[in-house]
Amino acid sequence: MRIDVLTLFPQVFDGFVASSIVGRAVASGLLTVACHDFREHAKNKHRSVDDRPFGGGPGMVLMCQPALDAFEALDADPDGKPLRILLTPQGERLDQRIVEELASVPRLALLCGHYEGFDERIRALSGAREISIGDYVLSGGESAAMVLIDAVTRLLPGALGDEQSARDDSFSDGLLEYPQYTRPREYRGLSVPEVLLSGDHGRIEQWRRSQARMRTSQRRPDLMEDGSH
Ligand code: SAM
Repeated sequence: MRIDVLTLFPQVFDGFVASSIVGRAVASGLLTVACHDFREHAKNKHRSVDDRPFGGGPGMVLMCQPALDAFEALDADPDGKPLRILLTPQGERLDQRIVEELASVPRLALLCGHYEGFDERIRALSGAREISIGDYVLSGGESAAMVLIDAVTRLLPGALGDEQSARDDSFSDGLLEYPQYTRPREYRGLSVPEVLLSGDHGRIEQWRRSQARMRTSQRRPDLMEDGSH
């Protein structure tokens, strides 16, 4: 999979792309992440990418030309056109279902906003899918892009040491994950549930399933609403 990130701050991604699961996926060739400073596409004298909003108001708005030219430059790649994504608090809220959809796309191009956001015509002319990572406002789309890249990478076959791990994760089957324990067996008076030490895989599976259901109905009853659990 290839992900191109269009940003004004490409250096923000350096450590992220080199570390942990994403770093391993990149090193093993499963994933390519290419970050581009879309200021390089600005055609005006000062290479500015933003301007004051028509109608007045605070802050600066990202102009159409640099952002759209940056998207279009990626289309020239012989590997085919990427699915365009605009990171914005006004987009559809990212969840595991959307992450699964995006993980099956061979190429993504993520546009990170800044300042007061985008000129509306970037939305109209790019045809990008608009994604939000939650109902709060960040200063820029970079951290949102990292969230999306991280979540998608976990689903690439071979990215995790153990494929079962992504299948057990919260939300993959619509439930939160069951409680996990590691050594020691007892800590400050709290013991590991006996069933996990039993070696009986059937019982362990049953216990985990019922714990996942209980935990989900306590913490996220909204996830139980479709009745399939
Ligand atoms: N004025 C904009 C609004 O109210 O919709 C918010 C602009 S925000 C300060 C700057 C940029 O951060 C946005 O263009 C977007 O790229 C990114 N951003 C902020 N919150 C986000 C969120 N919840 N999800 C995804 N991107 C977000």
